[in-house]
Amino acid sequence: MSKTHGFDTLQIHAGATPDPTTGARNTPIYQTTGYVFRDADHAAALFNLQEVGYIYSRLTNPTIAVLQERIATLEGGVGAVCCSSGHAAQIMALFPLMSPGMNVVASTRLYGGTVTQFGQTIKRFGWSVKFVDFDDTDAVKAAIDDNTRAVFCESIANPGGYITDLDAISAISNAAGVPLIVDNTSATPYLCRPFEHGAALVVHSTTKYLTGNGTVMGGCVVDSGNFDWSASDKFPSLSAPEPAYHGLTFHETFGPMAFTFHGIAIGLRDLGMTMNPQAAHYTLCGIETLSLRMQRHVENAVKVAKWLEADPRVEYVTYAGLESSPYFDRVEKICPRGAGGLFTFAVKGGYDACVKMIDSVEIFSHVANLGDTRSLIIHSASTTHRQLTEDQQRASGAAPEVVRVSIGIESAEDLIADLDQALTKATA
Ligand SMILES: *Cc1c(COP(=O)(O)O)cnc(C)c1O
Repeated sequence: MSKTHGFDTLQIHAGATPDPTTGARNTPIYQTTGYVFRDADHAAALFNLQEVGYIYSRLTNPTIAVLQERIATLEGGVGAVCCSSGHAAQIMALFPLMSPGMNVVASTRLYGGTVTQFGQTIKRFGWSVKFVDFDDTDAVKAAIDDNTRAVFCESIANPGGYITDLDAISAISNAAGVPLIVDNTSATPYLCRPFEHGAALVVHSTTKYLTGNGTVMGGCVVDSGNFDWSASDKFPSLSAPEPAYHGLTFHETFGPMAFTFHGIAIGLRDLGMTMNPQAAHYTLCGIETLSLRMQRHVENAVKVAKWLEADPRVEYVTYAGLESSPYFDRVEKICPRGAGGLFTFAVKGGYDACVKMIDSVEIFSHVANLGDTRSLIIHSASTTHRQLTEDQQRASGAAPEVVRVSIGIESAEDLIADLDQALTKATA
């Protein structure tokens, strides 16, 4: 499949060929843990990374390999490593770059789970994070120090309404010799291609829009192949002999594929956060309709957001696809096909009205997931952000008076009617 084919063609065909043994047109689920070596020389060549092939499914699996190539192609990258969840992908992306004492400069506007993973859990590895407002480019510049090994943000930031100026941020990170990692989960490569805006790596929770129907967990790290790991001595796992792989120098040996090979040969081998082939199958099926679904998610989100904004029972709506949004201008530049399907809105009547609203919806489902064909709703202040103070809730976009919606691909008029009746009950 040529990379010059259109997105709609690539989302169906990239990485896949009819099964050579059976002719099966859809990618088979290779439900196997091991692979028979042709002979002892073949086995040795595989273990030496002199020949690419299959050894053991913790490392590589043919079903997952198709998904990796599919996602890498759609992002415009050179390689990808799939893993067990979006959170696993974030650790897998940082692992080759970090060591004890090193830090990540990250946007304050991130998925709640990422704030906890970065703010608390990664400290156990001796890593740390500096959270910065990414609209304040001077602050981003000032936060990068000699021990910074990555800059991290989301393209369209969860819970929606915010778009990162990726060109401005990548200019800063690249000048500092540090890779920009972009979590492109909420946008998907259909709406935003971070490599075209200077990012070095992309991570995904494939759990969300890429699979698209809320069936399986998964994650992916995609490499642009553009970052020069040997330009400084900051990334010895890639630029110097790697003791975890009998002294192999990944960048010298594999060139632009260094990060991907390291992710498989060391990341998956030793951290074991492997995707399973069933999940890869569901995600491959989902990706085939990605562009169609994203078009509808965006179309519906615009209709619902405009309706809410005009409704007197609603205080405000934060969706970058609305002209009233301070980030509306960035849509054209960063995600010209639309601002995604996630946003928050404030209900007059505050916390109590929000809780009543959540209990009154009939088509929307009250769940913590997002990026499903179904429309989803959650009141963060009484659920995911319950442990935070009100100030912390406001700072993270989860103020007591707002609910977050993930707009599905149902009929927009039904979604509006559902919110209408729920708002009536909530504000009675
Ligand atoms: C869900 C999500 C994650 C975490 O992914 P999991 O698959 O749930 O581990 C990370 N970033 C964003 C933007 C997400 O929406």
